[in-house]
Order: sequence, then structure tokens, then C-alpha cells
Amino acid sequence: MPSAITTGERIYHGIAASPGVRQGKVLVLGKARLTVARQSISEAQVADEIRRFEHALVLTRQQLIAVQKRLAEKSGDKHASIFEAHLLVLDDPELNNEVLTRIENERVNVEFAYQNVAERYAASLAAVDDEYLRERAADMRDIAERVLNNLMGNGDEGDLRNVLKEPCILVAHDLAPSQTAQMEHDKVLGFATDVGSRTSHTAIMAKSMQIPAVVGLKTITQELVSGDFVLLDGVKGLIIVNPGAQTLADYGQIERQQHSLQEKLWLARHEPTITADGHRIILSGNIENANDAGAVLECGAEGVGLFRTEFLFINQEELPSEQAQYVAYHAVADALKPAPVILRTLDLGGDKFRSHTDVPLEMNPFLGWRAIRFCLEEKDIFRAQLRAILRASAVGNVKMMYPMISGLQELLDANALLEECRAQLRAEGVPFDEQMDVGIMIETPSAAMTADALAKRAGFFSVGTNDLVQYSLAVDRTNEKIAHLYEPTHPAIVRLIKLTADASHRAGHWTGVCGEMAGDLALVPLLLGLGVDELSAAPATVPQIKFLIRRLKMADARTLAAFALECESTAEIFDRSVNMAQRVAPELFQ
Ligand code: PEP
Ligand code: MG
Repeated sequence: MPSAITTGERIYHGIAASPGVRQGKVLVLGKARLTVARQSISEAQVADEIRRFEHALVLTRQQLIAVQKRLAEKSGDKHASIFEAHLLVLDDPELNNEVLTRIENERVNVEFAYQNVAERYAASLAAVDDEYLRERAADMRDIAERVLNNLMGNGDEGDLRNVLKEPCILVAHDLAPSQTAQMEHDKVLGFATDVGSRTSHTAIMAKSMQIPAVVGLKTITQELVSGDFVLLDGVKGLIIVNPGAQTLADYGQIERQQHSLQEKLWLARHEPTITADGHRIILSGNIENANDAGAVLECGAEGVGLFRTEFLFINQEELPSEQAQYVAYHAVADALKPAPVILRTLDLGGDKFRSHTDVPLEMNPFLGWRAIRFCLEEKDIFRAQLRAILRASAVGNVKMMYPMISGLQELLDANALLEECRAQLRAEGVPFDEQMDVGIMIETPSAAMTADALAKRAGFFSVGTNDLVQYSLAVDRTNEKIAHLYEPTHPAIVRLIKLTADASHRAGHWTGVCGEMAGDLALVPLLLGLGVDELSAAPATVPQIKFLIRRLKMADARTLAAFALECESTAEIFDRSVNMAQRVAPELFQ
């Protein structure tokens, strides 16, 4: 426990998104958008402001040309030409002259003058009834942000590599999963955001990359300035500004205890995953990146229970070709064989996009053109992935599953395309595993309710609780304002998981859980009691889950589940489950 507040220490409470404790200097991103204050300047300062403006324009031009060059090298001139339009906006003489006039005549700071003029230009473009001109408004705002970041010394923030000069704790209003994916351990000690929740893909990515994070802090970007010293507690979800000597000493002690526990868990990580009364459970790891395959076996997991393949598509200017995908899937299958790897087909949409420009804006992206819905329309993209997966199945123990199935027809349509790809590969003489196991994710209430029908056409189920909770309880999984309503132990969720597991068993199949619920130690007894056969979680949490399972009796877990299925209270189900987990493995909860 951190100590009581000492002089100068401030504590902010948020949502614990990725465990770990770090201390360091803060770098606040995106300040330019929030706080451009009007400052009066003297006549003597005018020349300096104009010089600063010219310097920022030169710097921005250099950055744009560098990005353009990188793009041209990667994907040819086609996309790089977008930056021509940006350069034209940057060098617009009318706009820039107006900024200079305002600095000279009104004696205001350049940031204020530039933001005002640029925003007025952008607003008038946005109001025009012409799509081309409206797009120029977005260019205008994009450029204005770059120039303002340079004026304020924030660097080129769109690309984190340009911002992170020394190890720091990043503070931002929000971070896209694609930005999290770019983070490097030696530069990002941890991060804190105003918005977000535990099951957003930004949080999931942070956990997978073992970068401690606190999200949903509401106003943290306004409370902190770059250079502040903070302690970030990703376990309790705290940001402690100017931690006092006692707080640092308390945290030092916690860290030493954690370290010796981690050593104990690590030594036991390769023991079999068997409950204290002899029931075998499959324990797998989730990955987002082909390079993480090694970490899965290293942490004591028995295979990959979920490979989120969409991260191959994110942060790329071009769609990955069938061959590029094959190379990635082959690498994972080869590294793990004979252990299984479950490749989840493309789940773009929701909070995961290839870029901010290539998808139409939707009112409710999580209810929109996402995952299997996208793939069944973008058939060429889907076929390329299916062929790549099938080809990789010749190499190792590859399984595949479709995300976000909401009804039987989607499964039938996806399987029809798969069959088409199999026929093509046979005709081409390309080897693949004819028996490759094909399952589905259970992420919608409609899938859980019709699990018996789906089980006749799917080889296994993997429950995506992150989405199942979101869709069943109508709670946006990324929205910190309603995070308290996001309740994995809601009686409805307990019953839907039970329905799913029972339906799969009746059909002779197995059911896993690969959402964050599988990695929540407090909920593991409940899931096992409900009949879940496999748990798949972030590799770093696997040793702890195994430690818990080896001390748990399945008979007790089943009694707990029987209680939960009758119980009407979310809180009581949670309390019973957490009590059982704490009783069998108290050291994991200290
Ligand atoms: C889930 O929804 O629980 C899941 C594992 O998929 P994702 O988090 O990628 O949506
Ligand atoms: Mg999901």
C-alpha cells in the first residue's frame, strides 16, 4: 500500500490496465490541441516570434519529406504523393502571411496566431459542400497540429519514434493500439491516458508487451506537464506525482516481494497444468506478433490459444500479401510445433484500424463493419489470409478460428470460402493439412445462445469474453465512463459461458476462454467450474495462472459454478470466486 499523502505528493486514481510499477519523468503528448494560450508579446519580441515560426515551418517540412521518403521506399510513389498536398498546405503563402500579420499587428505569440488562422481556414473548408475540399480541411488540421507540436517542442507526435528521445512515462488523452504496438521498452517505461479501459486493445497490447499502464484517468493530461516526476502503479491503477520518501520506500518493499514471488513462479512454470484433484486443463498464450511465439513456450504455456493476426495489417502502408502472411504464420507454427497455434482470422474494426483514413467512419464501430463481417465482404483479403493459413498448416500444428460470429450463416459462408481455398490449393498441388481444426470465437450472445447449432459446424469454441461482456451487457469495452458496468461475473455472462461449454461437450468438442477473463486470477476458479477446458492469456500471466490451478480442486470450482448459476448478484459471484482463488493461492494476491 502506498503511504499516506506527504507534502507535494498527489495521487490520481484510474483503471489498472497493465501490471507493473515504474517511476520516471512524464512526457505529455497532444498538449498542443488542449492548451494554446494567448500571450502578449512586446515589439522587441516580434522578430523572435517570426523566427520561431519560420523554424517550425522548416522543421515540419523536413519531417514531411522524411515520412514521404520512407513511404516511397516501402510502397512506391502512390501513397507518398498524399504528402504533396500536405506540403502545399504548409507552404500556403496566404495563410502564412496572415499569421505574420497577426503577430506583428496584434502582438500575440505565434502558437496562438497560427492555431487561430489555421482553424479558421479548416473550418471554412469543412463547411463547403464538396468532398474534395472537406478532405483538405483534414489536411489543414493535420498540418496545423504538426506545426504547433514543433513550436511547442513536442516533436512529431504522430510517429512515437520521433517523440521518444529518452525513457519516460507517456501521458496522452488516448493511444491507438497501433501506437502502442510501436512502443519500445527502452523508451516507454509505462503510459497513462485520460480515456480507455482494461479490455481495450491498447490495454491488451500493453499487457502483452509488458508495459505497465493506467488508463481512464479522465483529466491526467491536464494535471501533468512534461518533466513531472511520477510513480505509475499499473496494479492498483494509480499515478502518484512527486512521490515522497515513504511512498518510494513502501513501493521498494513491494517490488522486492514481487520479485521473489516471480522467481518462485518462474521455476515452476513448466509443471503440468493439473488441478489438485487431477483434472487436466490446457493453458495457452495470446500473441499479437509472430516474434512473440518463443515467449509463449518460455512462459510455460502449451501453445498459442489466440494469435491476433490483425496486428500484421496495422501500421502497414500496404495490405500484407498472402506470401508475407504465410511467412509470419509459418514462423509461428514452426517455432511452436508440435504445440498448437490458433490463428484468429482478421479482426479489423471496433478499435483496431489499419489507419485512420482507410475505413469509413461509423457511429458504432464495435457494432459495425468489423471482423468476420468485413472479411465476408472483402473476399480477396479474406481469401489471401485463408490460403496463407492453410499453407502454414502443412508445417506445424495450426488451428484457425473466426472472430465475432453472430449466427450460423456467417460460419457457413466463411467455411464455403475456406473450402474454395482448399480446392484451389489442391489444384495447385500446394500442401496443407486437410484435417486442420476450424473453430469459432463465441463473442456475441447470439452465438452463445445458438452454440448447439454452431457446434455441429465448428471444431471448437473459444470464448472472447472481452466482446461477450461488451455485447451482452451493452457496455462499450473501451469507455472509462461506464467501466464500472463492465461486469464479467454478471449472471448473464456466467450462464452464457455455461451454455457454450455444455454445447461443445455434447458435440464432442472443447471450449476455451481467450478474453482477459482467462488471465484474471480471481475468475479462474469460476471458469474452470463452468466447464472451460482451455485458458489462453498474456504470456506474462501464465505462470501465475498455472500456480493457482495446481492448488485448486475442480470439485470446489464446480460447487462455486453451481452457486453462480443460481445466484442473482454479480458482486456475490465475484466475491465467492475471488475468495476461493485467494484461499488456494494467497501469495498471488498479496
Ligand atoms: C475477446 O473479445 O475476448 C477477444 C479475445 O478478442 P479481442 O480482444 O481481440 O476482441
Ligand atoms: Mg473479440
